[in-house]
Amino acid sequence: MKIATVSLEDNVFVGVVEEMGILALNDVEEKRTGRRPYAEELITCIEQDNFLENIKNLIQWVEGQPNKADLYIPIEKVTFLAPIPRPSKNIFCVGKNYVEHAIEMGSKEDIPEHVMVFTKAPTTVVGHMAGILEHREVTTQLDYEGELAVIIGKRGKGITKEEAFDYIFGYTILNDITARDLQKKHKQFFIGKSLDTSAPTGPWIVTNDSIPNPNELNITTKVNGEIRQQSNTKHFIFPVEEVISVLSKGMTLEPGDIIATGTPAGVGKGFNPPRFLKAGDTIEISVEGIGTLLNKVVKDQ
Ligand code: MG
Repeated sequence: MKIATVSLEDNVFVGVVEEMGILALNDVEEKRTGRRPYAEELITCIEQDNFLENIKNLIQWVEGQPNKADLYIPIEKVTFLAPIPRPSKNIFCVGKNYVEHAIEMGSKEDIPEHVMVFTKAPTTVVGHMAGILEHREVTTQLDYEGELAVIIGKRGKGITKEEAFDYIFGYTILNDITARDLQKKHKQFFIGKSLDTSAPTGPWIVTNDSIPNPNELNITTKVNGEIRQQSNTKHFIFPVEEVISVLSKGMTLEPGDIIATGTPAGVGKGFNPPRFLKAGDTIEISVEGIGTLLNKVVKDQ
């Protein structure tokens, strides 16, 4: 199941994305029961009891309606916001989680022995099709990183690898946009990873039950149609369950937390000479079973 946060004529709502279009949860539920039980924001919906079960019941009801086509909003009418437009805390990002990427960023010495995590500010998040600011005033080395992202569904601490999948709400795509010059200059990654618009996310979340194994998904990044990154998450150094286990040792993970799982080889910095982004460039990241996240780099206003 695909769940999205979308806007239509200034209304922002949570919906299910299906082939026929989008079902606006509260609007459709109101037609069925006269109630609007879903929270306005997906991050809050995730915490609601029986959220997914209720949606499944709603879809089943829709299936039985003689006029069911009328219940769907055509996909081309809506704008996809990031599924969680404003995370409640920084986005967790795994660094150097593919061997070939660790090597392209330095050498074999850079292959980590332990999970390496940095974060991005919540203000970095934008949705599918949103512009990525070029930030010419602060960087000349803007780079892309296509990544699978995990959305946490349940509060937990000390989560074991075996339990980890019970704590996952679903998966989405994240472009870990990075200002390489700032990343290098300030030593800690935070500034270079946290410029506004540097976490395009979406277009939707695919729920946990629809992705049997997140550690075996094809991932591709294209810039202006040219393939730059092509790999599979089976090449993770630290698989999803290990990342969750390590992060939750002594730190509480909460519903709606986002974990970007790292990027494969083929980032702009990895080329000789480097191939950084400029205004007008289009970046498309596709992850098997999820879809394609598309964004364009735009000039600063
Ligand atoms: Mg990254």
